[in-house]
Amino acid sequence: MGQKNYKEEVDREFSSRRKKSYEAYQKAKQVIPAGVMSRARLFSPYPFYIQGGKGSKVTDLDGNELIDCAMGYGPQILGHAHPVITDAIREAVGRGSQFAIPHEEEYRLARLMVDTVPSLEKVSFCNSGTEAIYQVVRIVRAVTGKKKIGKFEGGYHGGTNEVLANFKYDKEKGGPVEKPNTVAGSIGIPPEAQANLVILPFNHEAAFDIIEKNKDDMALVLVEVIQGMSGNIMGDRAFIQKLRKLTKDLGIVLVVDEIITGYRVGLGGGQEAYGIEADMATYGKIIGGGLAIGAVGGKDSLMDAIAYTGDAPTDGKTKAFYGGTFNGNLLTMVAGTATLQYLIDHPEVFPQMERLGKKLRDGVNQYVKREGLPVQMTGTASMFCTHFMDKEIKSARDLIHENMEAAKAFYPYLLLEGVFVPNIHMGFISAVHTEEDIDRMIVAHCKALKKVREAGLL
Ligand code: PMP
Repeated sequence: MGQKNYKEEVDREFSSRRKKSYEAYQKAKQVIPAGVMSRARLFSPYPFYIQGGKGSKVTDLDGNELIDCAMGYGPQILGHAHPVITDAIREAVGRGSQFAIPHEEEYRLARLMVDTVPSLEKVSFCNSGTEAIYQVVRIVRAVTGKKKIGKFEGGYHGGTNEVLANFKYDKEKGGPVEKPNTVAGSIGIPPEAQANLVILPFNHEAAFDIIEKNKDDMALVLVEVIQGMSGNIMGDRAFIQKLRKLTKDLGIVLVVDEIITGYRVGLGGGQEAYGIEADMATYGKIIGGGLAIGAVGGKDSLMDAIAYTGDAPTDGKTKAFYGGTFNGNLLTMVAGTATLQYLIDHPEVFPQMERLGKKLRDGVNQYVKREGLPVQMTGTASMFCTHFMDKEIKSARDLIHENMEAAKAFYPYLLLEGVFVPNIHMGFISAVHTEEDIDRMIVAHCKALKKVREAGLL
């Protein structure tokens, strides 16, 4: 099969199995831009629409069953429709769903988090990771009186104007590694919105010089210790520990973004995995059990910025704004509590996911080595990402070597083999992915890679 034919053949096969999804897509496009709610949900030749999911599988509108490795982009660590979560939601929904009045389920989830993550003294909930990030930035600025934000290349921290920058490396505009330029991650962001952003190179000593130079104005450094959206780029352990020490010495608040790593690489998340304690941390995804959530938490001395006295005129002057109609809504709280309680009661799921994740990565990496393909699967624990390059990946800068044509062709082939990994995201396995799922995933990856090679793209 030649390069030009591969796409036609894959598209034909995809379309023949997904007529109802095609109709759903045409209808959706009439009223929804591009027919999808997030750019990440587009798929070639068109998105498939979902009927439902159970455990490690999802079923599309046409009845095709797939092993799901999107897992909702991370939240579904117990798989789809896990009974402990559905039972908790079913019980709670009879009591109503949203009151904007405090209730005890907020305490239960906050208590579980404070008890499982050593750095968390106080936590507050919001509705997405993106919200958690803008809240943490405001809280830290309110306490420190400083305004600059240090943020790493390749780090993704949600969609707010202030931090949506440099999550991908831009070869033309990115600047030298010793002094990266700020490159907005979208049109529609005025440059002044990112005037306080200081871009840091990941896993590179120059980051420490830049932090030192900005120490007087830098309120916080925001870091994903394992960069998720960039495709599972592992922070170097010594680098992350040095970052912790330096920020502490300089009086800069270290914010660890645990929106992916929290409760995924263990109960203590990325902080535990790297042997550090953050001053502040942001959460989302898993802690909502599949319902919309974000959380900001950390040291009492910082969280004090939103510890209102109740006297509005005083609070208006001394406290930061924190609020939101849906914050702490009942259904999210019970779904999150059910999830964390399950993970606490079943600590064996972490080594199990670690073992299965390793089996997948080893299986694929052995195949590509045997076949001499310039491909590698990165990741740790239950996270993985296939990269179409063989050079070691230490930062988003290294990804310029990626064969994007091959990557684009790969995911539709993988889908035809019954495995869904989102094409612009990393993959996740859950606590309910089985040994058999992993075996099928390895075979599917190898077959899809073989097809990409036969198409002349590798
Ligand atoms: N931070 C990280 C590390 C993320 O991966 C994401 C989302 N993928 C966010 C923040 C933003 O979270 P949300 O999509 O819930 O707004």
